[in-house]
Amino acid sequence: MRGKLKVYTGPMFAGKTSTMIQELEKYDEFVAFKPNMDNRYSEEKIVSHDGNGIQANSIPTDELIHIIKSLEYDGISAVGFDEAQFFDDSLIDAVDHVLECDTDVLVSGLDLDFRRENFGCMYELIKKSDEYEKLLAKCEVCGSNAEYTQRIIDGEPASYDDPVVLIGAEEEYEPRCDNHHVLSGEMDSNYEDILSDIG
Ligand SMILES: [Zn+2]
Repeated sequence: MRGKLKVYTGPMFAGKTSTMIQELEKYDEFVAFKPNMDNRYSEEKIVSHDGNGIQANSIPTDELIHIIKSLEYDGISAVGFDEAQFFDDSLIDAVDHVLECDTDVLVSGLDLDFRRENFGCMYELIKKSDEYEKLLAKCEVCGSNAEYTQRIIDGEPASYDDPVVLIGAEEEYEPRCDNHHVLSGEMDSNYEDILSDIG
């Protein structure tokens, strides 16, 4: 028997974490993991915007596969991964291992980064999933369905070429619809595509 893979994606503020928490709580016994960017181990609460929370193990990404393979799955019916876009490719092997132990896997994470490009191995997981839900947020500008995450640096829309980590800058993220997602620099690459199409 093989477990089921359930993936919840969408932009920021779409309720990905709270959906995963609600689904995890339907299982008798579950464990949850999230990547720790500071490369430390800790026990942390995953809390969604509606205040729902569960205990999770915050772990260094390069320890993931070792931790997952050393778990005893007899009493565990599901394993959750939050902010899964920040795990490296080893998440794919980790997920496969859990599924082979007849344990369900629930994954929550951003499918697209602020550049609207695939984030981490989320796309791979969507392709492998048995159940997949793309959640939407409300556009901060017009209130319609938002599927993108707008990055704002020092009050201005981030451009395509801005580095992911900026020291000393004031950064914000907002959900935006297709009409209101702004990405300067992206226009240049589209323009190049148009030029190359024309030949
Ligand atoms: Zn909008």
